[in-house]
Amino acid sequence: MAKYVYDFTEGNRNLKDLLGGKGANLAEMTNLGLPVPPGFTITTDACRHYLAAGVVPDGLDQEVAEHLDALEKQMGRRLGQADDPLLVSVRSGAKFSMPGMMETVLNIGLNDESVHGLAKQAGGNDRFAWDSYRRLIQMFGKTVLGIDGDLFEHALDALKGKRQDTDLDAGELQGLVETFKGIVHEQTGKDFPTDPREQMRLAVMAVFDSWNAPRAILYRRQERIPADLGTAVNIVAMVFGNVGNDSGTGVAFTRDPGTGRQGIYGDYLQNAQGEDVVAGIRNTIPLEELERIDKRSYDELLDIMETLENHYRDLCDIEFTIERGKLWMLQTRVGKRTAAAAFCIATQLVDQGLITIDEAVTRVTGDQLAQLMFPRFDGGADKKKIAKGMNASPGAAVGKAVFSSERAVELSEQGEDVILVRRETNPDDLAGMIAAKGILTSRGGKTSHAAVVARGMGKTCVCGAEELEVSTSEGRFTAPGGVVVSEGDVISIDGTSGEIYLGEVPVVDSAVVEYFEGAEPEDELVKAVDRIMSHADSVRRLGVRANADTPDDAARARRFGGQGIGLCRTEHMFLGERRQLVEDLVLASTDEARQAALDALEPLQKADFTKIFRAMDGNPVTIRLIDPPLHEFLPDIVDLSVKVATDGATDKDRKLLAAVKRLHEQNPMLGLRGVRLGLVIPGLFAMQVRAIAQAAKDVPGARPEIMIPLVAAVQELESVREEAAKILAETGVEALIGTMIEVPRAALTAAQIAEAAEFFSFGTNDLTQMTWGFSRDDVESAFFSRYLDQGIFGVSPFETLDREGVGRLIKIAVEEGRSTRPDLHLGICGEHGGDPDSVHFCHDVGLDYVSCSPFRIPVARLEAGRAALTDSDSDTR
Ligand code: ADP
Ligand code: MG
Ligand code: MG
Repeated sequence: MAKYVYDFTEGNRNLKDLLGGKGANLAEMTNLGLPVPPGFTITTDACRHYLAAGVVPDGLDQEVAEHLDALEKQMGRRLGQADDPLLVSVRSGAKFSMPGMMETVLNIGLNDESVHGLAKQAGGNDRFAWDSYRRLIQMFGKTVLGIDGDLFEHALDALKGKRQDTDLDAGELQGLVETFKGIVHEQTGKDFPTDPREQMRLAVMAVFDSWNAPRAILYRRQERIPADLGTAVNIVAMVFGNVGNDSGTGVAFTRDPGTGRQGIYGDYLQNAQGEDVVAGIRNTIPLEELERIDKRSYDELLDIMETLENHYRDLCDIEFTIERGKLWMLQTRVGKRTAAAAFCIATQLVDQGLITIDEAVTRVTGDQLAQLMFPRFDGGADKKKIAKGMNASPGAAVGKAVFSSERAVELSEQGEDVILVRRETNPDDLAGMIAAKGILTSRGGKTSHAAVVARGMGKTCVCGAEELEVSTSEGRFTAPGGVVVSEGDVISIDGTSGEIYLGEVPVVDSAVVEYFEGAEPEDELVKAVDRIMSHADSVRRLGVRANADTPDDAARARRFGGQGIGLCRTEHMFLGERRQLVEDLVLASTDEARQAALDALEPLQKADFTKIFRAMDGNPVTIRLIDPPLHEFLPDIVDLSVKVATDGATDKDRKLLAAVKRLHEQNPMLGLRGVRLGLVIPGLFAMQVRAIAQAAKDVPGARPEIMIPLVAAVQELESVREEAAKILAETGVEALIGTMIEVPRAALTAAQIAEAAEFFSFGTNDLTQMTWGFSRDDVESAFFSRYLDQGIFGVSPFETLDREGVGRLIKIAVEEGRSTRPDLHLGICGEHGGDPDSVHFCHDVGLDYVSCSPFRIPVARLEAGRAALTDSDSDTR
């Protein structure tokens, strides 16, 4: 027979899956000998059964009855007993805390008879008894019967007038109970249920049902909590903080959740019950003042907090109640904290000897580190919000609005801060994006070009602000309410919230970034980050490289701890003024003309590589030969057609238009690109390899690695490899030659491909795209949100590597590649290289390194350290 109910004496903190966090920790505290009112927990398993079948599982009612009997014996009173009632609370509690998302009902067991018994228990305190009863009807009505809580609130407010709830006397509260019962009857057509066991049974089911309340679903999605865990239900003997001024209820942290500092952090409310503290019905007092009111309880509470910290070896938060001078613990858990506090607390605990430095590394996350790296708006400042978009890349940016990449560059060269505002961005905007402090677009989702590039650069970005009408040609945008922002007007954008403000909002810099840039650690937080990062570096097995295309990025990558470049894209080297040469290349009708165009490009490429080799200072640089479809480098077909249709068109324009038409593709991502381009345009790859070799020759210690994109068959690679090897031999330069694995066929034939490759780098953006058959640019706005809603995936596979599908291909490629070539060097260079969960995956499958944008390097270093210290199946949350 399944066991669905656990007494608090039977559970422990490790049973969170089964008992939920609240139940597991109540059991833990009980077993520590702390003063917890007795009770028991109905398991999440029972909840899952109930939610699946619509009825409670067989045997549950019986088991609950047995545990209730035992509880009644222990307390010496029966649930709802008329002359001396036992009352209980029925409390939800899932594995992961979902603050305020689910339901709790207090004072179960009260009815028109037992309310008198309760008054008698409290020495004839009628006021307390009626207050407890009205609370029961209010909570039960709202939670179990689904009545709009405002109806009760309004009735209470009307009775109170300007007074506080504690000013109501017994007679008034008794009247309120009648009013509340009236509301219940009116809203449900039935009387408030008076049978105590029936009350309890209904409340248990309501807690089960609350798992699927819309706000709980939304919260889980946001926090990435699986939808199928279910909640446990705790039945706890009531203790009362609302008996009088010698009673009360409070919440506390064992240290400051904002900074980690030790001290007394909490709030207390006299003569109050349950949620009153959080609900803010009256002003709470700081916990320190309890010392004056009830010194004995206060001292005991501080003792217990210390016990809990030493036991959990972490910051805990607690809920407690004092009933006529007796302290009761009602909840504890390892408390949530800010990112800054997480780092400080972890190192403080090391210094206190409570945890090891290994554990400290596992106690912080890459996401927390990333949060510490973004500048933020000053919370206290005045702001004029004009619109809201998607929070694509966090941070706070202020600057003059500009509407073209050129203006962004121009103004920033004059020392102005600018925000680049576009309907959407494209690769041609790159220079402007680099020059700008932040990027704002009115179209496109979190994985639009603007968003991806901005995150890669660690630049603030708000995208898809659809309320904005952006007119690039007129150099202005309009926001709701007729606000017009023209070029040069100052705006502020918050990439963490997605909010857009008119005018300048003051910004505070991140000290953590200054530290990564080379500043000495000074304040406590930065010192903590320094200690944890150093230790993560010393334990991690994964190397961390950067995706960097420019000498500036390469230099930052080095400062941030990058051990090389894992992906140096070459396509941007064909943009800007060099477009001309690319056009010549495409238009070339003879071998000579083509070669002339290539010859003109070669020294420019060489100069690019020289700078990057210098910046990387003897660390490996993986250079990817040109990848995207050629037409991306050519003029827009519509613009060009218009131009050709007018008088001013040149002969070259006409030829270009023909070429653009010839090269037009239905599915460019699956078209003429990558290695295919190299094979179709003779001399193109050779030119790039020569430029690499020449540059490497000029920079002592340079370590180039040549990477061929989009290979699907070993035959493609072989012919390119042969040509490249010849050029390297001629120049006397040594370089590894390897390939991206980004087409499923390449992963599936990795054993063959490894014959011709000295390294693999998993291009997981394309690999994800091709494995799922998603065109990323099309699917994200079209239906991803629906897929997330329906739980088809919990998180976008472009954000976090899909272990089951894409990950399986990677595993195959790793195994087969190494079987052919045991010393095959393996890395990943998709955006996943900087995603915490994906870094853990890379560690688990045995890659040699991850490569990510320079700004994500610290995150990858930390997560690589955490991966080395934790089990592969542990939570990275
Ligand atoms: P939440 O998960 O929203 O915090 P809880 O189940 O902790 O909900 O209950 C809400 C409030 O009721 C808390 O302040 C808690 O301390 C109080 N409470 C719960 N059970 C009891 C009880 N048996 N006696 C007194 N107060 C209780
Ligand atoms: Mg609680
Ligand atoms: Mg690719």
